Amino acid sequence: MIVVLKQNPNQTQLDSLIAWLEEKQISVNKSVGTSHTILGLVGDTAAIDPDLISALEIVEDVKRVQEPYKHANKKFHPEPTVIRVRDTQIGGGTLTLMAGPCSVESEEQIVGIAKQVKASGATVLRGGAFKPRTSPYSFQGMGLEGLELLKIAREETGLPIVTEIMDIEHLPAFKDVDIIQVGARNMQNFSLLKELGHQEKPVLLKRGLSATYEEWLMSAEYIMSGGNHNVILCERGIRTFETYTRNILDIGAVTVLRHLTHLPVIVDPSHACGKAWMVPKIAPAAVAAGADGLIIEVHNDPEHAVCDGPQSIRPEAFDALAKKLHGLHRYMQEE
Ligand code: PEP
Ligand code: MN
Repeated sequence: MIVVLKQNPNQTQLDSLIAWLEEKQISVNKSVGTSHTILGLVGDTAAIDPDLISALEIVEDVKRVQEPYKHANKKFHPEPTVIRVRDTQIGGGTLTLMAGPCSVESEEQIVGIAKQVKASGATVLRGGAFKPRTSPYSFQGMGLEGLELLKIAREETGLPIVTEIMDIEHLPAFKDVDIIQVGARNMQNFSLLKELGHQEKPVLLKRGLSATYEEWLMSAEYIMSGGNHNVILCERGIRTFETYTRNILDIGAVTVLRHLTHLPVIVDPSHACGKAWMVPKIAPAAVAAGADGLIIEVHNDPEHAVCDGPQSIRPEAFDALAKKLHGLHRYMQEE
């Protein structure tokens, strides 16, 4: 249920409304917008009589929310969520470029790539330390050592780091990570999501391989209902009958999510297509559709990459792409 307040509501009346709702085990999410303040009511609101609330002097309107996701719902929070990570802002009209290799391989590799992508305008460094591989015989990532190397790359460049967590037991080791990534395969690992809701770091939640928008938003809801509202959604391609590309980039997801949720939405063109030559061609579509950013795999020696070389672009290609994406973003904002 949503309660839209009149402008400049009387504080005493507002406090008593909130106290009354909380007594009924309803948690109240207050969103202060430029013109109106909205109260998002979460809990069993079936027993609350909307007419009783509408009759209050401070209330302009009361609406029931049909969608099962409440915290992630734009109706609850009409202003876009802006997530601040070190000197970077994600969402709210900026274009965030996250870039780096699929996997951390060595200090030289991650620091070298970090310096190059930073010079090209990336504001977040990506790199997997724990890798979810289809085969148990494939490289599984450098693990804790990989996390240490990411931190060295951050020290050298100032770029915040985003890296994937696969096991909740590793959470203490992620305390120095700036953004925790939940991979497509873990989008519905509910115990992991619940724990990530009980800590404050931003979470980059990738879409599951065949997840609907609602399932994806309900996964965001698991994190948000625990108290952590810093969730970034990432469209990374879905499974279809097509086999030419690794997945199919669902560009419509950006448009739909911008309509349904206030959370920032970014696009991963690398995992969506699986082909380096396609990445610069499909990435601009994300900006044109209104994405808040992209996460792109960049490797200085893709032929010898231990993971996802075929979809990794070279730093020079990233440089040219980043310029194009920022130019397009400026153009879209003028529209
Ligand atoms: C990744 O970003 O390296 C990754 C494994 O992505 P996804 O979870 O989208 O497959
Ligand atoms: Mn990858």
